[in-house]
Amino acid sequence: MLVVMHKSATPEQLESVLRTIESIGLKAHPLPGSTRTAIGVTGNLQSIQPDQIGGLPGVMELIRVTKPYKLAGREFHEVDTIVTVGDSKTGAGYFSVTAGPCSVENEPLMMKTAEFLRSLGVTLMRAGAFKPRTSPYAFQGLGREGLKILERCRAKTGVKIVTEVMETDEVEAVGDSADIVQIGTRNMQNYALLRRVGKLRKPILLKRGMASTLEEWLMAAEYILAGGNSEVILCERGVRTFNDHSRNTLDLSVVPPLKALSHLPVVIDPSHGTGKRAHVPPMTLASLACGAHGALLEIHPDPDKAMSDGLQTIDFPTFEKLMGQLRELAKPLGVTIC
Ligand code: PEP
Ligand code: MN
Repeated sequence: MLVVMHKSATPEQLESVLRTIESIGLKAHPLPGSTRTAIGVTGNLQSIQPDQIGGLPGVMELIRVTKPYKLAGREFHEVDTIVTVGDSKTGAGYFSVTAGPCSVENEPLMMKTAEFLRSLGVTLMRAGAFKPRTSPYAFQGLGREGLKILERCRAKTGVKIVTEVMETDEVEAVGDSADIVQIGTRNMQNYALLRRVGKLRKPILLKRGMASTLEEWLMAAEYILAGGNSEVILCERGVRTFNDHSRNTLDLSVVPPLKALSHLPVVIDPSHGTGKRAHVPPMTLASLACGAHGALLEIHPDPDKAMSDGLQTIDFPTFEKLMGQLRELAKPLGVTIC
């Protein structure tokens, strides 16, 4: 960390800052410049509060040189993480497709979806058994019965299951049923839940909080990694902005900086990101084009009858056409669709 002193800082103020840094067990390295002095600080910076130094008289600014996300960042882990689940790979060189209805509605729907996906060579199926709904009166999901339905779909068709956990008490149950455990946007900063899934040995799909910065998102991933679970897939699902033409603003511009800062794979959810089914195919193709490692899509045989998120859900023929387009676009990009 660098502590930059004001031009007008007095020698006494500089001395006091140096003493404070040393008193909290860190090493201070004064770097006098022509107009002002900066102080390099080394040691275990995790333990200090920025106000301890930033608020001292004569201090203008603190500049962090290393990133706070030690496990999620590339500084100490250069190699890309690729998450393998059955035949799917999510990470550098691969683009995984995960699709299914928003909610587990009933067994026939889920079986039909699983068989349809398998017929197209898609091996990851999504659907929520536990649903985070804005209204307490809306369909809340089938809960544990939904998990059993998903398990039976896997047993019959071989699809792997991506499903959300919302509460710490359900982590073991969802972890036993799912192949990839989803943390939803509303829970990205639920630290108790992040700690619990850090103990699981299943990959975690961590959705970006709808008002979270890139750094906050990576710090949320850090909680899971610090618990010993090294398989985290980040999922951009749109953030809140002032726009009124879509449910959220799908921030594809986060992909290049994210890939530069982190080794973790990143997938895109254009369904929640746009909220409008007509906009899902172009934004899925854009996700592949901008370098993301996968897409998470809401599909349903009859989207207008879906029990949740029907407006952003595409039907089976649209999905089939999109898969063909993804496979074409992947060729010149040298990416494998899986
Ligand atoms: C979902 O995937 O159905 C979902 C609820 O997503 P999000 O947490 O992004 O709203
Ligand atoms: Mn949904």
